[in-house]
Amino acid sequence: MVLSGPSGVGKGTILALVRRRHPELYLSVSATTRAPRTGEVDGRDYYFLTQAAFEQLIAENALLEWACYVGNYYGTPAAPVLAALAAGRSVVLEIEVQGALQVKNNYPAAMLVFVLPPSLAVLAARLRARGTDAPELIERRLERAAEELALVGHFDYRVLNDDLERAVEQVERLLFEEPLHDPTG
Ligand code: 5GP
Repeated sequence: MVLSGPSGVGKGTILALVRRRHPELYLSVSATTRAPRTGEVDGRDYYFLTQAAFEQLIAENALLEWACYVGNYYGTPAAPVLAALAAGRSVVLEIEVQGALQVKNNYPAAMLVFVLPPSLAVLAARLRARGTDAPELIERRLERAAEELALVGHFDYRVLNDDLERAVEQVERLLFEEPLHDPTG
């Protein structure tokens, strides 16, 4: 499953709750050139890389997908995801929309899920309340959010995050009640 949607919509919160109930779920750890936020741990939240190291991964074709997002690279290291799928595990990528569409191109059996905010105004309020980014970066994330929302039609499923518990249940159902499939097979 690829769980996508604009920054601040609650993808990470939803997945943390799904994983609490399903510890066997494999959540991919992305690589990024963004600086770590307070409390983020290298290798757990992200692999924090220099631009040169990230570009080397691109050159080695070691990423399943990657994108530039608000001035930084973000990408999914391919090997751990492919190994988890080969071991029969359910895998979730939490990524932005350009990357999600790349995954769909390369692995048509991937299930693309878009998490929608109740409105752009609510999303803006959440990003500001979260306080993890500088005001100018929040504005750029919101511009990007409007572009991302325009691409929702390319996704297989939409989950409206106006009620966290309901959003978690919907993602759980999509993950565990759909027939098992291996998008690489
Ligand atoms: P943040 O800086 O808030 O951690 O992430 C910014 C955006 O990048 C979020 O929408 C997040 O889901 C997305 N993102 C995180 N990892 C990846 C990745 O590996 N690939 C892509 N394409 N986007 C990612």
